[in-house]
Amino acid sequence: MIDHELPWEGGCRCGALRFRVSAPEMLASACHCTGCQRMSGSAFSLTLTVPAQAFEVTKGEAVLGGAKGPIAHHHHCPECLSWVYTTAEGMEDQFVNVRATMLDDARGFEPYLEVWTSEKLPWVTTPAEVSFEREPDFSQYGRFLADYAAWRAARAGG
Ligand SMILES: [Zn+2]
Ligand SMILES: [Zn+2]
Repeated sequence: MIDHELPWEGGCRCGALRFRVSAPEMLASACHCTGCQRMSGSAFSLTLTVPAQAFEVTKGEAVLGGAKGPIAHHHHCPECLSWVYTTAEGMEDQFVNVRATMLDDARGFEPYLEVWTSEKLPWVTTPAEVSFEREPDFSQYGRFLADYAAWRAARAGG
């Protein structure tokens, strides 16, 4: 998300659930897993990982959907049932995975990392720099965040 000034506003399909992001994303990614294909109703899901303290629901109250845990908690609009964001059990105070296309303007977004390419539909390609056949080990994410910050800064010309 290079071109847009913070904060970023976003919301679900019907507008009953709205949110605000007040700090830049830590990682931009795509997931090709069949669970994301089904829940998004599309070929893959797009995620902006943002600091938890920078994410705020400004209208409505989300309901849980999707597979309903135990690790991933998928938050949906109670009216239109759009999948809006996901939190991880025990890490709710660290980060929130916002569905990138829920932003009012998602055009500046580009996935840097993609996961679960082993379940990818055969015709799909993304511009992701880093690909994994499955979910990389969580211990690797510190490096991804550092690499993403450098990649993002270079794209912004800074
Ligand atoms: Zn809605
Ligand atoms: Zn997935």
